[in-house]
Amino acid sequence: MKEYDIIIIGGGIIGCAIAKSIISKTKKKVVVLEKENHVGEHASSRNSGVIHSGFYYKPNSLKARFCVEGNKKLLEYCLLNNVPYKKTGTLVVAKNEHDSETLYKLLDRGKINNVPGIKIVNNDELRKIEPYVKGKKGLYSPTGSIVNSKILVKTMAAETKNNGVNFLLGEKVLKITQKNGQILVNTKNYEIKSKYLINCAGIYADRIANLTGLKLNYRIIPFRGKYYQLIKEKSFLIKSMVYPIPDPNLPFLGIHITRTIDNNIIVGPNAVLAFGREAYSNKQFSISDIKDIISYDGFWKMMLLNSVKMKNEFIQSFSKGKFVEQAQNLIPNLKSADFQEGYSGIRAQLVDRNGELVDDLIIKNQNNITHILNAVSPGMTCSLPFADYVVNNYVKNSISN
Ligand SMILES: Cc1cc2nc3c(=O)[nH]c(=O)nc-3n(C[C@H](O)[C@H](O)[C@H](O)COP(=O)(O)OP(=O)(O)OC[C@H]3O[C@@H](n4cnc5c(N)ncnc54)[C@H](O)[C@@H]3O)c2cc1C
Repeated sequence: MKEYDIIIIGGGIIGCAIAKSIISKTKKKVVVLEKENHVGEHASSRNSGVIHSGFYYKPNSLKARFCVEGNKKLLEYCLLNNVPYKKTGTLVVAKNEHDSETLYKLLDRGKINNVPGIKIVNNDELRKIEPYVKGKKGLYSPTGSIVNSKILVKTMAAETKNNGVNFLLGEKVLKITQKNGQILVNTKNYEIKSKYLINCAGIYADRIANLTGLKLNYRIIPFRGKYYQLIKEKSFLIKSMVYPIPDPNLPFLGIHITRTIDNNIIVGPNAVLAFGREAYSNKQFSISDIKDIISYDGFWKMMLLNSVKMKNEFIQSFSKGKFVEQAQNLIPNLKSADFQEGYSGIRAQLVDRNGELVDDLIIKNQNNITHILNAVSPGMTCSLPFADYVVNNYVKNSISN
């Protein structure tokens, strides 16, 4: 039997950032258990790679609190550790007067959240920033940046490993038992004892919570986000990243166009119910995940609350034309032939029993276990200060003796 002070389940950006934070504060023995053979195989490297600036999020939410600080810290981290990144600025585009109202609301949020340098730009200024984007006005946020998210998570894991954290890869957590203040975790090859457990299992975080006996009033419903990639000949159409006006009732930002750190142009993600927690394409499904979704009353309430939007997004997921139309709203010069298949990511979206999509990051504490739930966007941007917050407020006191 192996013995550690702290077990972290999940080697995504959140698990790695929490491991990094712990090892910078204590000499405790820490292990990260990851079911895949490499770290960051799921949401942490299947995202837009955007280091958000922080104007989208409700003031006083954890997202708002950690996004602005996370942007600054992540940029410093990338610079220091040779992780490829670029400060490009973010542009949100209003097409008409109605959109402009939302733009000013976002500006207000940005100011309350202390987003540096955020401003409204008129049509002429907008065209200077992005000559091929069509809009009446824009919201420009200069600290929006892009990063190679795959290299980011691998770098953080490697640094943490060098500082003494052990990583056991290819080790899926199958069973968790609690006895006399100790926690026993079983994977295929190991039985591991520890004093503290941190659940950073992303899309499976609610199932890990169930394994520990925690009764949650939520369930994770997987929402796939698909991306297309523009052909190289059309990459001149975008210099930075351009977003539409978001739907205020949904926690998704809408299909946006982003120049990645490798100079590819990605378009997406949409937000479609996935028929499995790892169903990265329309053709993939998991019977047990589908049973899990349809047996949840919160799912049906969510469908009732959002039926039109969900139906439209679902239809759109099969239709390249609908996807292209949304991108053309931002850049009219785009044609269907400019789009080629890209990758997909799956959001670990929490839905409560009333069918509401939970907006903020959620932390649940249970004796000597901390669960991180709903680590949806901008979870990567928030990761460094969020990890410090979790360790300082939930973990540190319990492991000090
Ligand atoms: C489409 C999409 C776009 C996004 N865009 C952005 C963006 O531009 N900017 C931004 O800041 N954020 C973005 N996000 C959000 C960001 O990617 C997530 O917040 C972040 O990656 C969450 O990290 P995580 O470590 O919680 O999850 P993950 O990266 O999914 O890590 C969880 C890990 O737990 C492991 N695991 C699960 N179950 C077990 C088990 N039983 N035993 C062992 N290991 C297990 C998994 O294999 C996985 O590696 C986006 C997300 C998606 C899906």
